[in-house]
Order: sequence, then C-alpha cells, then structure tokens
Amino acid sequence: MRLILLGPPGVGKGTQAKILVNELGIPQLSTGDILRSAIAQKTPMGLAAKEIMDRGDLVSDEIVNGIVSERIDQPDCARGFILDGFPRTIPQADALGGILESKGLRLDAVIELTADTETLVGRVANRARETGVVRADDSADVIRKRLDVYRELTEPLVAYYRERGLLKTIDGLASIEEVTAAIRRALGA
Ligand code: AMP
Repeated sequence: MRLILLGPPGVGKGTQAKILVNELGIPQLSTGDILRSAIAQKTPMGLAAKEIMDRGDLVSDEIVNGIVSERIDQPDCARGFILDGFPRTIPQADALGGILESKGLRLDAVIELTADTETLVGRVANRARETGVVRADDSADVIRKRLDVYRELTEPLVAYYRERGLLKTIDGLASIEEVTAAIRRALGA
C-alpha cells in the first residue's frame, strides 16, 4: 500500500503515520524527519536546510524529491510506504508521479487530515510542552508562517489528488483513535 498523509503542521500526520506503520507493516517516510536527522549529523544537505526550516519555509523541491526517490528504493519500501510531509507543492506531486511511474508503481490513496489554523497553533504549542521537545520551527510565529506556507503551497494538492480520484478527507480534530478508525474505513481495511 502506498499512501500520502496530507495536512497542515500539527494536525497529527506523524502520530497517525506511526500507528499505520504498525498496522500495515510498511515504513513511514517523513521528509521532515530525514531533514532533521541530516541537520543533527551536520551533513551538507542538513547545513543547507537548517536555516530554511528554522524560519518555516520549504526547502527546495530538488532536495526533497531526491530524498524520496532514494528512500523508496530501499528494500523495506518494497511492500509500500506512508509519505508524511511529502509532497508539499504541486511540482513535488508531479515529481512523485514521475518517480513512481519510472519504477512501475502507483499511489493507492491520499489521506487528507483537516483542521483550522487556530486549533493547530494551540496544538503545536502543546506538543512542545508535552513532549519537552521544542523544535526550532514550533515557536508561535514560525508555526503561523508554516501554516501560511501550507495554505498557499500545499493545500492546492487537495484539488490535485481529488481530480485523480485518490483523495479521502478526514476530520483531523477527532480523537487519535477516531482518526485512525476513519483512515481504516477510508482504506477499506
Ligand atoms: P515537518 O516535520 O513535515 O513538519 O517538516 C519540517 C520542515 O521540514 C518543513 O517546515 C520544511 O522546512 C521542511 N520540509 C519537510 N518536508 C518538506 C517538503 N516535502 N518540501 C519542502 N520542505 C520540507
């Protein structure tokens, strides 16, 4: 099963992806996690991405397209994968289409998790408090910036995947269990 989890920062894509990893036995592929680990390891890619991520902007399509193309060639992706945080722009979605086509693969579904901006701003602040992990890009003004970037550059993917008959929209503000159950139903599982 090859899935995309689409939705604004803080809506719970990462949480649901981790649950689905266990249920479906396929890996989560989070471009954000891969970039953060590149930053931690101070690789050239990490050094180039850090400042951009810290201010809430998107790193270049070229970088993330390369990450995804390489990652889905790994053996653990043979049975499928859950894309979390990618694609984030129409050009990335086009690139993904090309990457999958060149490998003879196709997407099964795009799960959109929805939530309004004000709730998300509060949620991200809570994430920092509860986990004790304060991401540099989770401060209040950076989260607003990331939400603006989402509405402007990423939300057009909703129509893009709807036109392709792949979109399933789920209320991301329901409880974690309810969202998981709704995803299961959407996937016909
Ligand atoms: P995330 O963990 O998905 O919220 O991503 C954190 C940050 O990593 C984003 O705000 C971007 O700066 C960068 N990033 C992650 N995925 C992408 C992507 N697909 N395209 C561009 N930038 C990305």
